[in-house]
Amino acid sequence: MTGQPRPSESSQEVRSLPAAYYDGKLSSAAKARQPSPIWALFSSETNPGMLSMLAGKPHPDTFPFEYMNLGIDEEYLHAALQYGLTSGYPELNDWVTKLAEIVHSRNASEGWRVSIGPGSQDLLYKAFNALLNPGDTIIVEGPTYAGATPILGALSCNFVTVNVDEDGIRSSDLEKVLENWDPSKPKPKAVYTIPFGSNPAGVTASYERRVELLGLAKKYDFLILEDDPYYFIYYGDKPKPPSYFSLENEVLGEVGRVLRFDSFSKVMAAGFRLGWLTGPAPILDKIEAHSMTNVVQASSLSQIVAIKLLKEWGIDGFLTHAQHTTAFYKRRRDVMQTCLTKHLRGLAEWTVPEAAMFFWLKLKLPGTVDLQNVEIDGDSTTFIRDKAIGRGVLVLPGATSYVDGRQTAYVRLSFSVLSDEATEEAIGRLATVLKEEIAQ
Ligand code: PMP
Repeated sequence: MTGQPRPSESSQEVRSLPAAYYDGKLSSAAKARQPSPIWALFSSETNPGMLSMLAGKPHPDTFPFEYMNLGIDEEYLHAALQYGLTSGYPELNDWVTKLAEIVHSRNASEGWRVSIGPGSQDLLYKAFNALLNPGDTIIVEGPTYAGATPILGALSCNFVTVNVDEDGIRSSDLEKVLENWDPSKPKPKAVYTIPFGSNPAGVTASYERRVELLGLAKKYDFLILEDDPYYFIYYGDKPKPPSYFSLENEVLGEVGRVLRFDSFSKVMAAGFRLGWLTGPAPILDKIEAHSMTNVVQASSLSQIVAIKLLKEWGIDGFLTHAQHTTAFYKRRRDVMQTCLTKHLRGLAEWTVPEAAMFFWLKLKLPGTVDLQNVEIDGDSTTFIRDKAIGRGVLVLPGATSYVDGRQTAYVRLSFSVLSDEATEEAIGRLATVLKEEIAQ
């Protein structure tokens, strides 16, 4: 029997509500939220033949697993399959607490604790939300992490950008900003900084700069948000500077101003989605209260796989693995440096990173002139979107690293995943398309 066609079978086109309809439904917070510029470009990575230096994806060869026969015995199986504490699986929480005591020379009885979260990205998001009301001021580095700019952009707070140079955030510039602060505006609550291999600029803050920033934190009463996923990937020639978390007591004679973000992504496995936050309990309590009402906790299964390996290794074994990972990225840094010198000398400027996995390049793109006849840097966003992607090379436009989204000729190149040959080819492609652009 043939009946009446069901609505979905009729040839009549389905009428969808227009996109504009949802303007009236979405909250102001949702409307203010922009996609992460890195993830938004990810789909271009799958273009046939694309050589991508876009993301800070760790190289799979650095993951300390050759196969994964989970073999989780009774002792751990229950925990791996069950809900767990928002602060993290207790043994893992204890392990990272011990690690913090050793690498930052801080005693766990000094008024801080640790909370495990689903990646440091999630912990950053919640920390910004826990600290900033609309209209509050936060100081960010120029340039800053492109994964943080959309979070800050959605919070309707007041940003002040202080530039970095080869020694990290320019503390003297910050001091001038603070000295001349307009008293009618809320004073800065926090400085957000990436002290090792700052993503994207590749610089590591010197010991002196760290001491100066801590001094300013006390004098002008702000917190330091130390976002440090590259702490364990420092390959510079100078001795490794101590973290803000380890220095605060020594420099300030008091503790509690530093909130530290660590990650297992770059030194274990990014797909575990495991990071940890170290700092004063009153702030961590609020961040955990936020997690309890959304993601609840970091994956139990990831935490169990991680703690099984970490217990087998011990702290020393973990630090040895981190050293191997560091040597791996130093070699990759050298490969990209050779390719940049060969293909881009005279077409771009850069400094050589001493940590992490990025070069920050200023391309010699033709500048533009605004209505006041002011020369503005070239526009790498348009160049990447309209020229480079079509020629099979993908890098991150520098505008994504500024909270004001300013036009800039900078780009960030990740040297983490491409092979030596692919790196040479990718930089060659970038040079070719850049020469064409300059010649136009
Ligand atoms: N902060 C910075 C500076 C980063 O580079 C990254 C990762 N690219 C994160 C935070 C987030 O790391 P996770 O994988 O732990 O969420």
